Amino acid sequence: MSSFSEDDAFEAASIPLSQRAMGMRPTPYLEGLNPAQRAAVETMDGPVLMLAGAGTGKTRALTTRIVHLLNTRRANPNEILAVTFTNKAAREMKDRVGAMTGQPEGMPWLGTFHAICVKLLRRHAELAGLKSNFTILDTDDQIRLLKQLIVADNLDEKRWPARALASIIDGWKNRALTPDAVPVADSSAFDGRGVPLYAAYQDRLKALNACDFGDLLLHMVTIFQTNADVLAQYQRWFKYILVDEYQDTNVAQYMWLRLLAAGHKNICCVGDDDQSIYGWRGAEVGNILRFEKDFEGAHVVKLEQNYRSTHHILGAASGVIAANTGRLGKTLWTDRNEGEKVRLIGHWDGDEEARWIGEEVEAMQRGTRGNAPMSLDSMAILVRASHQMRGFEDRFLTIGLPYRVIGGPRFYERLEIRDAMAYFRLAVSPADDLAFERIVNTPKRGLGDKAQQKIQVAARTNGVSLLEGARILLAAKGLGGKGAVELAKLVDGLDRWHGWVADGKRSHIEVAELVLEESGYTEMWQNDKTPEAPGRLENLKELVKALEAFENLQGFLEHVSLIMDNDKGGDGEKVSIMTLHAAKGLEFPAVFLPGWEDGLFPSQRSMDESGMKGLEEERRLAYVGITRAEEVCTISFAANRRVYGQWQSSMPSRFIDELPEEHVDVLTPPGLYGGGYGAAAPAGVASTLHEEAAEANVYNSPGWRRLQARSGQRPMGQPAEAKNITIDMNAVSSHTAGDRVFHQKFGYGIVMGIEGDKLDIEFDKAGSKKVVARFVVGADQADDVPF
Ligand code: ATP
Ligand code: MG
Repeated sequence: MSSFSEDDAFEAASIPLSQRAMGMRPTPYLEGLNPAQRAAVETMDGPVLMLAGAGTGKTRALTTRIVHLLNTRRANPNEILAVTFTNKAAREMKDRVGAMTGQPEGMPWLGTFHAICVKLLRRHAELAGLKSNFTILDTDDQIRLLKQLIVADNLDEKRWPARALASIIDGWKNRALTPDAVPVADSSAFDGRGVPLYAAYQDRLKALNACDFGDLLLHMVTIFQTNADVLAQYQRWFKYILVDEYQDTNVAQYMWLRLLAAGHKNICCVGDDDQSIYGWRGAEVGNILRFEKDFEGAHVVKLEQNYRSTHHILGAASGVIAANTGRLGKTLWTDRNEGEKVRLIGHWDGDEEARWIGEEVEAMQRGTRGNAPMSLDSMAILVRASHQMRGFEDRFLTIGLPYRVIGGPRFYERLEIRDAMAYFRLAVSPADDLAFERIVNTPKRGLGDKAQQKIQVAARTNGVSLLEGARILLAAKGLGGKGAVELAKLVDGLDRWHGWVADGKRSHIEVAELVLEESGYTEMWQNDKTPEAPGRLENLKELVKALEAFENLQGFLEHVSLIMDNDKGGDGEKVSIMTLHAAKGLEFPAVFLPGWEDGLFPSQRSMDESGMKGLEEERRLAYVGITRAEEVCTISFAANRRVYGQWQSSMPSRFIDELPEEHVDVLTPPGLYGGGYGAAAPAGVASTLHEEAAEANVYNSPGWRRLQARSGQRPMGQPAEAKNITIDMNAVSSHTAGDRVFHQKFGYGIVMGIEGDKLDIEFDKAGSKKVVARFVVGADQADDVPF
């Protein structure tokens, strides 16, 4: 392979001709690595573990190791197996290796676990009872198949839904358990029918020459375990194995790696126990902690210097993760500058949060906040739940700020949103055939391909829309059984919903809610037991919330079609929006972390389902989030969120109080408390960071200003300058026990007692609390606050 010696990347460093003649090549790529990284790159024989904190250059060292293996001719490109978790990470690693070696597409076995297993399984399909052209089922097909088996097994599919079974089977596959290996402890699963149904499902898949995602790994593990010759072939073949983000491997991935690595034993794994965030999908952080036991003689490399983030960002992240128990604990330091402190800001509501972040992004781009202008590509908004994206997407579209969503569809492209929109489109225009096709059998109404064909024929023969075709078909009794009953119900529903849109008597929000409810669409996801279902329900709520900004359904539908159209092209710079999970391994100069509210982040669901373990995984997500930032990290929360048309007050995330104060700047509106929070703040007003932020910022929100204007404290629209802010210091005298009052953070309540400048209030939602009297107004003064 002469390509290396001719490669530009290697020309820079010169080595003596004599050595070059002996096959030595320059290694400029090693320069700039620290000694620990260099050791990880240059220790090529035997197992190597790099267990180190975020941003310490694990991925960089791993990538350099590949280049070094190639350059020192330890292996050819196709003898190196390199695995990462996301397609984006694999792409990036390929690009980096390509840039260093000058061979952009030179790594055939660098990819995600799934991508590599598909490739292997196609070669050995017959050993799994498949043909090499097997199909990979998507979730819908998988569910349909399971449903048939459940029904054939005489189980009540309503009580024992296919999706629940799918998730149980998936769990087994993550643990590399074939049906005959499922432990006795699991035999009661799914009414005691779980294991036989799993076996029947695997048989059906084989008969169909198909497999699901979980099978890709499971089949390969089984093939390796039962075909020593095949395993030996690959053990010889893959001279070097490299794995990034090892802390997130599940049992099946772990077994697969162990089997392959047993040959040359040249396996190099990198990871960080503090960044294990896929426990809910079967990842076992124990895999990384056990590495030294599993691979005897392992060389363990610790990296302690963080190259990514400023001192304050690193300090804030370390402070949060310190609250977790059972950590390995690692030293992390940076010689980068102090930088800006992590910024913390509270907002009145989610809309204001999105508006503020939009303005900040624009200001950073222009360089008007005292920074050098920044490209939009260097900024990211990382959310806990995908439904949070909607507010940002809508806001950015409104102000024309280009954005991209990474690791998933954009909000309006999501399956459940498209389905719901199809219902809305039909309510507005019943002749929308594309929408009709989309929802006629969603949720399942027993209207399969045959029934749909009959509707099509009836419509075409009579030259009418599908809805009218369905009406004709029903009248002619051209359809029987459950399908006929359900279709009649759907037609009635569509007539009724269109009637509501036409007569305008109900609000469009009410119509939307009723459509989703009466069509059975919401219920479909409520009955769904897959891990994605709760997220989909949240997205549906978010969709209804989005309607509030419009006068009617039609206006909203136009808005969405414009959005979808708007965003087709453009390779220009864009701000990125993604979930915290999708941000793993990535880095951005500026990161926004919105929605730090208890229940949202940490997620209530995760705490309910997994208790303390769930909370600790959420905290690791917080750590992942903060450590994505290089220069500027901004955490924010909203005091109120609208959920299904109802205002709910929210508490700032408990993680906020875990941020060390010395690394945090609470963004206080100019002039409040006489300019800058801190020395001038009245003693005892705010004891914790989140209270500081909540009180300081919420009081500068438009909602609060409206409130103040009503109570005569400050005229509407007047800028929030110190001299104009007059918080009523005598408020204490204006409330007496028994008064009904309103507090921006805790909502409505009744004064139970007075103690100095504090009121003892029993809040309707937040329970009993002592609050500073001047932060409370009479309930009658709050009646224009949307609550
Ligand atoms: P994570 O845990 O988030 O995946 P990581 O440990 O994989 O982080 P990298 O992404 O490899 O860290 O590196 C973080 C940043 O530091 C990158 O921009 C990388 O180029 C840079 N970096 C790594 N090592 C060095 C070094 N020795 N000198 C200068 N910069 C470095
Ligand atoms: Mg990394």
